[in-house]
Amino acid sequence: MKIRNSFFFSVILIFLIVIGDSAVAFAEPIPSAAYDGVLFPDRRCCNREGKETVSACKNATRRGSAAAECEVWSEACSEAVLKVARREETVEWLKGIRRKIHENPELAFEEIETSRLIREELDLMEVSYQYPLAKTGIRATIGTGGPPFVALRADMDALPIQEAVEWEYKSKVAGKMHACGHDAHVAMLIGAAKILKTREHLLKGTVILLFQPAEEAGNGAKRMMQDGALKDVEAIFAAHVSHEHPTGIIGSRPGPLLAGCGFFRAVTSGKKALAGNPHHSVDPVLAASAAVISLQGIVSRESNPLDSQVVSVTRFDGGNNLDMIPDTVVLGGTFRAFSNTSFYQLLERIEQVIVEQASVYRCSAEVDFFEKEYTIYPPTVNDDRMYEHVKKVAIDLLGEKKFRVVQPMMGAEDFSFYSEAVPSAFFYIGVRNETLGSTHTGHSPYFMIDEDVLPIGAATHATIAERYLIEHG
Ligand SMILES: [Zn+2]
Ligand SMILES: [Zn+2]
Repeated sequence: MKIRNSFFFSVILIFLIVIGDSAVAFAEPIPSAAYDGVLFPDRRCCNREGKETVSACKNATRRGSAAAECEVWSEACSEAVLKVARREETVEWLKGIRRKIHENPELAFEEIETSRLIREELDLMEVSYQYPLAKTGIRATIGTGGPPFVALRADMDALPIQEAVEWEYKSKVAGKMHACGHDAHVAMLIGAAKILKTREHLLKGTVILLFQPAEEAGNGAKRMMQDGALKDVEAIFAAHVSHEHPTGIIGSRPGPLLAGCGFFRAVTSGKKALAGNPHHSVDPVLAASAAVISLQGIVSRESNPLDSQVVSVTRFDGGNNLDMIPDTVVLGGTFRAFSNTSFYQLLERIEQVIVEQASVYRCSAEVDFFEKEYTIYPPTVNDDRMYEHVKKVAIDLLGEKKFRVVQPMMGAEDFSFYSEAVPSAFFYIGVRNETLGSTHTGHSPYFMIDEDVLPIGAATHATIAERYLIEHG
């Protein structure tokens, strides 16, 4: 009975799909292969003009039972999401989006064409959105329009790096490249939009999709929040591609995941004199050198060894006259920590050490932390419950072996601004594939990704949101 029933429904389903596809083809233009009737069964069978057919009603009944099944998440629900994500036309469409963005990389707050492409895709899907936030950002909405509200975020900006990978869709803009995978992040989130739109009737609240500018520079996340990105949002999630894990592996951890990051630039001033007459000078080279040595003591002597921190001096500039003691020396560097308390303690001590060491050598010093230029990123800290949610979704969707607990990293992310405001989880999704050569770290001119990650990322995003709403609605 069971076998005969499933055979009967399979035949009906294939028949409906064939009929449905051709119906859509005549009813409206198909902007891309992925907009076929399979991805939008609602539009195919129960269109807005009310032209419902017998097959539409049968389909609706079938969806009704699926809806009931996904009141509580089941294997069948995971399979339904993956089926949409892994359809050949979906995969090709996702690759197409990613490649278009990859060919036309745009730097922070200049993501004009990238933003336009996203809005065009959202328009085609009939997903409503708010634009602009933070100059080029988008806040799209799928679901009931009511609470709970859960957000998914993708960053859109590229890096000022010349691509060294020779391939068909290499960057067409000299000196600019998507070397951090943000092109893939955008494609995966558009993919999630597509999946969620097909399942909108199942959503128990509202999914907010944030397409954000300027992650690499300019604190785009902060600007998005100032423009209302997190209005009503009670939880937020984001993914970052990672060359450290094989394609499709999800990695995350509870608590601190990425460090807070700041930069400093100090000008130590003294008095210029010929190097042969050092007693006529007030030597800023000596003062700044003493500061560099003393800065090393902050982490090694003042910080708890179990609370990882970094202070690195990366610049020391006293000019290029070998016969002259300069009147100023510029030194600079970066500092990292995994808690806000440690981070701001470092900032305070860096300033004290440089200023006080200058005075020991009769010099003066001023330290700039570029707060106005938005280069300070707080630590990214995962909420324990949100981390558990990502873990559960990844394991149920992709299998036990596809999830890893990862170590914290000293890199930084402006997702931290969201995570300071609402419970959140940030996770990695592997793109490592030795056969393809996708083994290079982000920000390398040789960086590339295994595009097989795109449907997996889209499905993971969509499921994180849908299940969150089921469990908190
Ligand atoms: Zn980056
Ligand atoms: Zn990045």
